[in-house]
Amino acid sequence: MLDDNLRASRKTADQRPDLQLSFEFFPPKTDAMEERFWDSITRLAPLSPRFVSVTYGAGGSTRERTLRMVRRITADTGVAAAAHLTCVGATRAEVDAVVQGYAAAGVTKIVALRGDPPEGVGQPFTPHPEGYQNAADLVAGIRRLGDFDISVAAYPEKHPQSADWDADIDNLKRKIDAGATRAITQMFFSNTDFLRYLERARKAGITAPIVPGIQPIHSFKQISGFAERCGASIPGWLAERFEGLEDDPETHALVAAAVAAEQVTELLDEGVTEFHFYTLNRSNLVLALARLLGRRP
Ligand code: FAD
Repeated sequence: MLDDNLRASRKTADQRPDLQLSFEFFPPKTDAMEERFWDSITRLAPLSPRFVSVTYGAGGSTRERTLRMVRRITADTGVAAAAHLTCVGATRAEVDAVVQGYAAAGVTKIVALRGDPPEGVGQPFTPHPEGYQNAADLVAGIRRLGDFDISVAAYPEKHPQSADWDADIDNLKRKIDAGATRAITQMFFSNTDFLRYLERARKAGITAPIVPGIQPIHSFKQISGFAERCGASIPGWLAERFEGLEDDPETHALVAAAVAAEQVTELLDEGVTEFHFYTLNRSNLVLALARLLGRRP
């Protein structure tokens, strides 16, 4: 049975001034999706996130929409917005113009990423001949343009293109040394992977916060597909929990809530106080998880 002291310490988590939440959204494509986007932002904003971030579609395909969303979040909600930005397939001048557009919209937080070639992460990456070489180079470029708060990506299971762990951690260090404030991780489902990664990074002298990226499993089929494409693994025990629930949405939703609750409360018990949630523009599960961490509207 769960120790009462442990439960009590979770209950008072909202009194921890160091508990920090951030929420990731993607720019909606249709009017109906946009309605859900704003509804979710409105429901999650009262949780006082440090920021909500809006992704940047592959190769800049959502450039205008990302800018429109972050501009409106900044102007209308009182919540800080962070805009994602990739450098794949673009010249430095094009990327710099996007950064200047963010600054003009009052957005000072950027999640700086390399991005993937159009064929996907499985294909080798070739920088644009006049472009930034990788995310570390992009961070340095953004720094030259102004005083931005920059987040970068980290990979608890190693980026699929890193030759080995040393190369992977060296790359994270280069991004932090170039001026990033924090790293946000790729989704992961084994907390052990995250804790080991943290240990590796700390041993390499990386002291910046490494924030776990939590992906609630709204649809096991969809999330498994995402995970496969980005090199995150689905542990056997997790697949078993969802096995046979394709046509049983109610049980699926309950299992999803239980799995995510277990993941965040375990991390909280390990002393983790910063969490980034991949919302997929939905609010329900994230609202419940924030409550478990002790944060209420
Ligand atoms: P980098 O840090 O540049 O690293 C990529 C790989 O290249 C690593 O394996 C690294 O070790 C290697 N590498 C870097 N430099 C060198 C070098 N000089 N020599 C040899 N190897 C090198 N994608 C989008 O398109 N839009 C988004 O909005 C988006 N948001 C994301 C948010 C988060 C929190 C995360 C974790 C990922 C996101 N991605 C997004 C996905 C990201 O673009 C991919 O994971 C991409 O494959 C790597 O980007 P990166 O910034 O980590 O690249």
